[in-house]
Amino acid sequence: MGAHAILSASASHRWLKCLPSARWEQQFPDKTSAYAEEGTRAHALAEKTLKTFRNGGSPEVVSDDAEMKEAIQSYVDTVVEKYTEARQASPDARLLIEQHLDFSKWVPQGFGTGDCLIISDKILEVCDLKYGKGVEVSAQGNSQMRLYALGAIEAQEMFWGFDKVRMTIIQPRIGNVSSEEMSVEDLKTWGREAHKKALLAFEGKGEPVAGDHCRFCRCRTVCRTYADYMTAPLKEAFKMPQELQPDEISEIVLKAKKIKNWLEDIETYALVQAMDGKKLPGLKLVAGRSVRKIINPDLAAGKLLEAGYKPEEIYKPQSLQTMTELKKLCGAKKLESLLEGNMETTKRSPALVPESDKRPELSINRTEEIKSVFEKGE
Ligand code: SF4
Repeated sequence: MGAHAILSASASHRWLKCLPSARWEQQFPDKTSAYAEEGTRAHALAEKTLKTFRNGGSPEVVSDDAEMKEAIQSYVDTVVEKYTEARQASPDARLLIEQHLDFSKWVPQGFGTGDCLIISDKILEVCDLKYGKGVEVSAQGNSQMRLYALGAIEAQEMFWGFDKVRMTIIQPRIGNVSSEEMSVEDLKTWGREAHKKALLAFEGKGEPVAGDHCRFCRCRTVCRTYADYMTAPLKEAFKMPQELQPDEISEIVLKAKKIKNWLEDIETYALVQAMDGKKLPGLKLVAGRSVRKIINPDLAAGKLLEAGYKPEEIYKPQSLQTMTELKKLCGAKKLESLLEGNMETTKRSPALVPESDKRPELSINRTEEIKSVFEKGE
């Protein structure tokens, strides 16, 4: 997305629920994270490989970054497979890469970039590469994908006879391929509802509405609606003179992680404000604790050995890199095959998660069983 889109497709899940959020967000800087930069490199690599393939070259990804190479290869293979299938069903099917998609008919000034479009007279497919692996992204009801698809329909429907559209998210690092299929008519009906909301959101009208969509809203550290939403279960809990009831405890546990994230975000925001010279009542900025550090470790080691200390006393034992670093180095598949038989999955202590979580529920009925699970770490 361009930096100046007020109603961006990637934030549409938020402004479609909280209409004024898009305008409010304009007041806060948009920070680029290291993850976003990594995603940009991954997209560039995918684009280059798919263009080479489309021009008759090899669809093999070339990169020094083993993990990225493996992930993008998986994305490219999926796209190539989809395109090959489309050609079998409809020989004139086309593959478009990094297409500018204008959906301003539905959302004021709305535009974006479609990573890959596969078009035939039967169906239009919009594919989106998600390089992140922190959160599994579903294509079901995904407003970003629907807006991209509306832009693609707008540009292509006069040349083709398709009446269906498929929106596919490919998240290769966690093996997620998620699709939603709709008729063009149904998608346009959804688009008309989104259009009404987009007009209000563009004007900054409507009431703020808090929910899960607030997690990455740039206003979240100062938004009173979000603060009320976050603190509601705690306020209720503190009003209770007697023991908390199970449903109240559940409500707090379900929100605990979000509340912790929100508190950390506010602490960071307050620190940045103070470092900008803004005084916050009851708080002051002080120097962090100082840590003494060796400037030249080789020189220090020489002096310690000269003084009679043994190498095993002054050096840490060598240890393997973490799994994350080793995956980056070798790629996940190669690492699996290199270390075959030498890896195990250790189970962690039981965790309390929302009922919507995909993992099956543990059937533990007796206290003794629960204790043994904790003790063995099963
Ligand atoms: S934090 Fe939530 S409620 Fe507040 S403006 Fe953002 S999306 Fe709306």
